[in-house]
Amino acid sequence: MPELPEVEVVRRGLERWVAGRTVAEVQVLHPRAVRRHLAGGEDFAHRLRGHRIGGAMRRGKYLWLPLDDAPLAVLGHLGMSGQLLVQPEEASDEKHLRVRVRFEDGLGTELRFVDQRTFGGLSLHDTTPDGLPDVIGHIARDPLDEAFDDAAFHTALRLRRTTIKRALLDQSLISGVGNIYADEALWRSKLHYDRPTATMTRPRSAELLGHVRDVMNAALAVGGTSFDSLYVNVNGESGYFDRSLDAYGREGQPCGRCGTLMRRRPWMNRSSYFCPKCQRPPRVVTAQ
Ligand SMILES: [Zn+2]
Repeated sequence: MPELPEVEVVRRGLERWVAGRTVAEVQVLHPRAVRRHLAGGEDFAHRLRGHRIGGAMRRGKYLWLPLDDAPLAVLGHLGMSGQLLVQPEEASDEKHLRVRVRFEDGLGTELRFVDQRTFGGLSLHDTTPDGLPDVIGHIARDPLDEAFDDAAFHTALRLRRTTIKRALLDQSLISGVGNIYADEALWRSKLHYDRPTATMTRPRSAELLGHVRDVMNAALAVGGTSFDSLYVNVNGESGYFDRSLDAYGREGQPCGRCGTLMRRRPWMNRSSYFCPKCQRPPRVVTAQ
């Protein structure tokens, strides 16, 4: 799954290359790519035609294109392998091209949704008064959002009887933090993933949020270097992951701070990577 920084790179690309353009034609080439649009591919294509695309929006890992002239938005699900590409109209079709959107202007480019594994897709939704697609109205703001409320996050964290990594991945509390960024931020904060949220002090919460933002911004800085080209692309892989990780994927390698060998533990069908010395387990683990 792409994480927030990769999705933000795609959003910026869409903002630059697609916002403000009017849809001339939509071709749905594989029904699975629009399965979340319950009325079907023909309805999806018909309802988009003639509408003007607004500025590309993101909340957490969710990405959408609001329509300028209707209370509707196209929600993009990138899934495991989904890509949104802006390609010259004459470029040959990608092998896994699922949806094509042509525009009325003469700019000569079109939007393509390409997805090898078809876990992703596009769907059209009514928008809430806040401008969110209704199906993601419950998703919390992400920590890079200017309107994210640090104090409210801390209060909610204390009230939520859970453990810190579960809280970081709870999209109704804070959005956009995936498994990798959670492990990185917890390592930087010297916090064990199973620490009960009830034990988090205000300074600890503030420090953790700061590290979450630093990790995301660092990834954004790397991921954002190539978005200037006429190629909007996300596939869940990022060069950042190979170079800059301190915790995730580093089992058996020395901790960058203390040299102790890093460990991996199974965690909710995934893994948690941590330093057993810097990130001490809580003495009492709350019952889940
Ligand atoms: Zn360490």
